[in-house]
Amino acid sequence: MTFSFDLTGKTALVTGANTGLGQGIAVALAQAGASVVAVGRSSMDETERLCREAGTGFHSVQADLSSLEPIERIVTDAVTLTGRVDILVNNAGIIRRADAIAFTEQDWDDVMNVNLKSTFFLSQAVARTMMADEQGGKIINIASLLSFQGGIRIPSYTASKSGLAGLTRLLACEWASKGINVNAIAPGYFVTNNTEALRNDPKRSSEILGRIPAGRWGDPADLGGAAVFLASSAANYIHGIVLPVDGGWLAR
Ligand code: NAD
Repeated sequence: MTFSFDLTGKTALVTGANTGLGQGIAVALAQAGASVVAVGRSSMDETERLCREAGTGFHSVQADLSSLEPIERIVTDAVTLTGRVDILVNNAGIIRRADAIAFTEQDWDDVMNVNLKSTFFLSQAVARTMMADEQGGKIINIASLLSFQGGIRIPSYTASKSGLAGLTRLLACEWASKGINVNAIAPGYFVTNNTEALRNDPKRSSEILGRIPAGRWGDPADLGGAAVFLASSAANYIHGIVLPVDGGWLAR
C-alpha cells in the first residue's frame, strides 16, 4: 500500500523559501520526500542545507515577485531543472502597517503586487504546465487570519489575503476537473519577520498571546503537516478550502 502522505518523486516549487514560513514548508515537503525548487530574492543557503539534510533534491531560482517579469522564467527554469512542477506553494508575501486614513498608494500596490497579482499569474503559468501533460498537481496558497478577519492598520494586506481566499476558491472551481487541487493554509500568529513589529510591541504582543487558545505563537515547523497533507494524494478530493493553522484563534 502506498503511504498517502509520501511525496517521493514529486517536485515542489516554494516561493519566499529563504526564511520563515516558506522555509518551514520547504523543509517539511523535503522531509516528506519532495525535491524543492526554492524561489526568492535572497540567498537560499540555509534552506538548501535543511532540505539536503532531508536527503532530497534542491534547486533555487532567484526572482523578485514584485512584478510579473520573472514569472515565465521561474516556471521554465523549474521544469528544466526538475522535469515537472507537481506542487506550487505561493508563500512569498509582504505587509505594510499604517492607519487606513493615511495609507499610501505605494503601500497598497506593493502588497497587492506580491501577495495577489504575482500569486495569480505564477499559479496560471504553473497550471498551464500541469494541464499540458494532464498529470495535474497541487497549488497551496498561504492566506492569513486576515482572509477571515479585518485586522487593523494593514488595509492592503487584509485586502490581499481576503482576495487570496476568493482566488483560491475560484481556481479550485476552474481547475478541479483538470486534476489540480487548489487550496490555502491560513496561518495564525507565527514567529517570523512578518510579525516582528507586533512581537516588539508589548501591548499588542500580550493581547495576541492572550487570545491564542494554544497559549503560544506558532513556529514555522507547525505549518509543515498541513502543507504536506494538502500537497499529498491524501488531499486529492479537497478543493478550495482555507485551512487555519492558528493555535485555535478562529475558534475563540
Ligand atoms: P517573512 O517576511 O519571514 O517571509 C516572507 C517571504 O516572502 C521571504 O522569503 C521574502 O523574501 C519573500 N518575499 C517578499 N517579497 C518578495 C518579492 N518581491 N519577491 C520574492 N520573494 C519575496 O514572513 P513569513 O511570516 O514567513 O511570511 C510568509 C507568508 O506567510 C506571507 O505570505 C505572509 O503573509 C504569510 N503569513 C504569515 C503569518 C505570520 O504570523 N508570520 C501569518 C499569516 C500569514
